[in-house]
Amino acid sequence: MDRRSLMKGLGLGAAAGVLQILGRSDEAIAEQYSRATKGLPALKITNVRAILTAPRGIRLCVVKVQTSEPGLYGLGCATYNQRPLPVAVAVDKYLDPFAKGRDVDNIEDLWQNAYTSSYWRNGPVLNNALSGLDQALWDIKGKRANMPVYQLLGGKCRFAVDCYTHCSGRDFAQLERSVRRAMEKGFRHIRIQLGGYGSPHLSREPHFKEAGFGLPSDSHMDARAYLQATPKMFKHIRDTCGEKIELLHDIHERVPPIEAINMIKELEQYHPFFIEDPFPPEQNGYFKLLRQQTSVPIAMGELFNNPHEWVDLISQRLIDFIRVHISQVGGLSVARKIATLCEWFDVRSAWHGPGDVSPVGHAANAHLDLAIPNFGIQESVDFRQNTRDVFPGSPTLKNGYMYINEAPGFGVDIDEKLAAKFPLPDHPGYWEPVRRSDGTAVRP
Ligand code: MG
Repeated sequence: MDRRSLMKGLGLGAAAGVLQILGRSDEAIAEQYSRATKGLPALKITNVRAILTAPRGIRLCVVKVQTSEPGLYGLGCATYNQRPLPVAVAVDKYLDPFAKGRDVDNIEDLWQNAYTSSYWRNGPVLNNALSGLDQALWDIKGKRANMPVYQLLGGKCRFAVDCYTHCSGRDFAQLERSVRRAMEKGFRHIRIQLGGYGSPHLSREPHFKEAGFGLPSDSHMDARAYLQATPKMFKHIRDTCGEKIELLHDIHERVPPIEAINMIKELEQYHPFFIEDPFPPEQNGYFKLLRQQTSVPIAMGELFNNPHEWVDLISQRLIDFIRVHISQVGGLSVARKIATLCEWFDVRSAWHGPGDVSPVGHAANAHLDLAIPNFGIQESVDFRQNTRDVFPGSPTLKNGYMYINEAPGFGVDIDEKLAAKFPLPDHPGYWEPVRRSDGTAVRP
């Protein structure tokens, strides 16, 4: 093909002019033509498979998507620690036959059709399975483009991901020591909790245990003891550790909604960075009342699975931080849309990022964090060595920031042979009951 007919065929007269000015050869233009018309070779999905592993005793589920290009695969997080086996079945028995033979490039099309392939949707099991497929396809796209995924999302808005860490103690002194250690590590944002959620050690032996109601392993939540101790905890940490650190706290939905509102009002004087999960998702209607009573920043959403749960809270400016667990909402494709919705209402991100997210999922959190303008803060974990060995390339923490590597895709791999040496624990993983003193179930 000569230069003139090539330009005609391309329909890129202006671009050709530029190329001529730059002195590009016919061969260079021909190569550009070839790329423009052919693009990357079409690849098909050949296999979608769940991999279960528990290097730290937490039931991680990662989905591996293989392609028709030998050696090219992607990984996505589908971790649902409390129900890992149904997720694996949803992946292996339903998503694999659904996705096989389809084009790896069309992530959105695949997501939309896989989402409705079960007809009933928006539940945690199927959303996690979908996330595994979705994130793996983003990983593959990054590898195909030879770019980290954050580049595909628009590039960096910041050099690293600012994180918060967890500090807790059975009493104020133990908590204070934990906070000081975190500050020494460079964290500027610290979540403070007195004991476990609901501070069970603060109260006396519950009546249900004396009465033999439930099982001895069932735990106790005394709302009054928790509500009284938490403002004192904030006062102690502010008095001893100063005003420079940002303090966060997770109510974990365990107290009556109106009592949560009263406590948050009391916490105003300590300027929390945010208060998390004041109400269970079933009580979203309380957020309007909360907003009328206090301007303390509110984070919400780790239990959300369904768009009906987050759209109104965001668009009515009833929360300040969206905290969805990215695999629980269906993957990166959904989370980036949530981030964009939030941007218009100045709601910031605080993706759920505890130990029950795989390193692949933490990397997905971080790639999105790097690329969105309305990033708020990231919950983080420092992976132990055996987790890093199973997942080479896992994100790292330094001076309170999370760093990803710059490898194409999410930059995290899996050593399947090593992963198999960490089978799921014997306990199936469900949450044990939490009860009030009379035995009444408490909803976390
Ligand atoms: Mg929470």
